[in-house]
Amino acid sequence: MNTLNTDGFRIRGLTKTFGRGDAAVTALRDVSVTTARGSFVALLGPSGCGKSTIFRILAGLDDPTEGAVAVHDRDPETIRRSNELGIAFQNSALLPWRHVRGNIALPLEIAGIKPAPGLIEGLIDLVGLQGFEDAKPAQLSGGMRQRVSIARALVVEPEILLLDEPFGALDDMTRQRMNLELQRIWTERPATTLLVTHGIDEAMFLADQVVVMSARPGRVIEVIDVPLPRPRTPEMMRSAEFHALVDHASELLFTQQQAAMV
Ligand code: ADP
Ligand code: MG
Repeated sequence: MNTLNTDGFRIRGLTKTFGRGDAAVTALRDVSVTTARGSFVALLGPSGCGKSTIFRILAGLDDPTEGAVAVHDRDPETIRRSNELGIAFQNSALLPWRHVRGNIALPLEIAGIKPAPGLIEGLIDLVGLQGFEDAKPAQLSGGMRQRVSIARALVVEPEILLLDEPFGALDDMTRQRMNLELQRIWTERPATTLLVTHGIDEAMFLADQVVVMSARPGRVIEVIDVPLPRPRTPEMMRSAEFHALVDHASELLFTQQQAAMV
């Protein structure tokens, strides 16, 4: 399959307004981005700039006020219903009474699909939770719970992966380890991926392209191509090239935030 010239996410002229009249809040204004199928895109911007709103619209959980959105050239709601979509959020909301295995299998159960033999065990290996198959969420660390939620997102063997600040609540060291893990997982199981984050390093480390957004109402300031080879290593994060990319994104975010305050 030639994946080079095929659209992954396509967002055209997306505007989203919540509420009406005096209480109306414009979260996004005229956002347009197109990404390639199979690529890893990070959405980077300050808190409240509409990242989760874009995420929800791409997941088929909310609708644009204006503009159009397609995922793999199809309507997001169709994609969601077809089980081609894996989703993970910051607060992984695992079911506390279920063990790891049962939490990972949940999306299949909801869809009425019996897991293929070895699928759940394979995912447990993939996210490095061997030995914790029968643990309940309360017995796991924050990082381990996020691994469960990533495994749960992967259980439908999705062609599209949407991650909304999946490591936002973790300490820096754990977060860096999870970024390495996510890269490894993504390399083994490629999918058209959107990662929402406010971490500049995280975005540059993981993504092929970083979409830098302005403060609310969110607009696209720039789409930065990240030309670093894969697999990316922690050493690369100390390279001049990496620092230059991070500096550039920081400057974009800082400059427009200053402009917004004037
Ligand atoms: P981010 O994820 O970048 O922090 P969000 O997409 O969550 O930002 O929110 C963008 C803006 O839209 C915020 O001002 C938020 O308060 C507002 N917003 C988001 N969802 C709703 C909603 N369901 N109703 C009203 N306002 C909302
Ligand atoms: Mg958010």
